[in-house]
Amino acid sequence: MAEVLVLGAGMVGVTTALALQERGHDVTIVERGTPGRETSYGNAGLIQTEAVEPYAMPLAPGALLQIAMGRGYDVKWTPSGLLSQVGAVWTYARNSLPAAHRRASQTWGKLIRQSTERHAPLVEAAGADNIIRRNGYIELHRTPQKLEKGRKAVERFRNDFGVESKLLTGAELRAIEPSIKVEVEGATHWSDAWNCADPGALVAAYAALFQRRGGRVVNADAGDLHRKGAAWVVDDVEAEHAVIALGPWSPAITERFGMRIAMVYKRGYHRHYHMELPPRHPIADFGNSVVLSPMRRGLRIATAAELTPHPRISPPQLRHGEKAAQELFDIGAPVEAEPWTGRRPCMPDMLPLVGRVPDQPNLWAHFGHGHQGFTLGPVTAEILADELSGGQGWDALQPSRLKRG
Ligand SMILES: Cc1cc2nc3c(=O)[nH]c(=O)nc-3n(C[C@H](O)[C@H](O)[C@H](O)COP(=O)(O)OP(=O)(O)OC[C@H]3O[C@@H](n4cnc5c(N)ncnc54)[C@H](O)[C@@H]3O)c2cc1C
Repeated sequence: MAEVLVLGAGMVGVTTALALQERGHDVTIVERGTPGRETSYGNAGLIQTEAVEPYAMPLAPGALLQIAMGRGYDVKWTPSGLLSQVGAVWTYARNSLPAAHRRASQTWGKLIRQSTERHAPLVEAAGADNIIRRNGYIELHRTPQKLEKGRKAVERFRNDFGVESKLLTGAELRAIEPSIKVEVEGATHWSDAWNCADPGALVAAYAALFQRRGGRVVNADAGDLHRKGAAWVVDDVEAEHAVIALGPWSPAITERFGMRIAMVYKRGYHRHYHMELPPRHPIADFGNSVVLSPMRRGLRIATAAELTPHPRISPPQLRHGEKAAQELFDIGAPVEAEPWTGRRPCMPDMLPLVGRVPDQPNLWAHFGHGHQGFTLGPVTAEILADELSGGQGWDALQPSRLKRG
């Protein structure tokens, strides 16, 4: 048993703390705010089992031209946003080519397929069942071509990864989602995924569970992390090990300890809208680059990626998403005066860092989960906790791979 500091109380940090505690370690979380109020609060709430391939950059000439010209809503950018991370974006693009993407998917798929079974015992022990729905989510296909593409994905994911899903006609979709107003060509019901009606509350419930089991959450700045002899210290709390789980803020800390991380920061936005008859499932309208999730606060419209350090007050992707949602449903006024925004912490090779920080005894990295950190927190937490307790870890996730280039 060891004393461990876990830096950061997002989904990744809190589930790391729980997994370490389960193995008998004495764990303290260091969080500067409140657990689950940053990226792990603002996502679309999907706990995915079907996202067996990490999100690749669209590389077809037409798609690239659209992005370059600022058209379309999948990826937006500002000159400063692109320039500040051009190296990382370039590597991400190279890793989106078919052979590299297939390699990453082999590891990624194994992680994703464990997601609901890793969340299940935590949801139960945390008493969070009331905010978890186990009914999957719906991906809309607005044209016959998109429906055909959807059909191929369903077959491939079933054959290669055992993913459960059902292809729906427009009429079948209307039958299970009667609040949809327009005719849609068809949809995929990814039926074995879960979704959460309040992602921030789920992280808070996991953090409360950690505290009930004897863990401590200290309010402090992880930027203070330093060595005192063999120990790691933050704000007078000392421990043998420290785990960096600060999501998009992690590279600022690793850099101080000799590890420069080129991360791709994909900004997303969300806003809730009042709605009398919300859909029963989250609706992914990828043609319009949004996910519409029924949440406790209203219908959450969550956007795709924007490469920009500075958030916009009136983001075009959200304005477009609002129009798409209005076309589909009767939605009311926005709940909040301003949209929420946060950044997905994406690694250029699309795999999270889970393991030892090179050349720093007992310093561990656990971040970079990109588009699926809310889903994957408890999965990679088990891998990290195992390795910290003397196990093997996963080769493909080791931070040392970045040094190998
Ligand atoms: C619009 C959008 C939609 C998404 N949808 C989904 C989805 O449907 N499903 C899914 O699986 N994923 C989704 N994601 C991705 C997912 O939200 C992230 O991958 C995940 O939340 C990352 O979790 P984390 O714990 O690493 O980071 P965070 O949740 O950001 O946690 C980091 C914590 O570190 C703390 N911290 C930072 N700096 C310091 C410091 N100096 N001192 C102390 N504490 C500090 C922060 O306060 C924060 O609590 C989405 C993301 C976005 C933006």
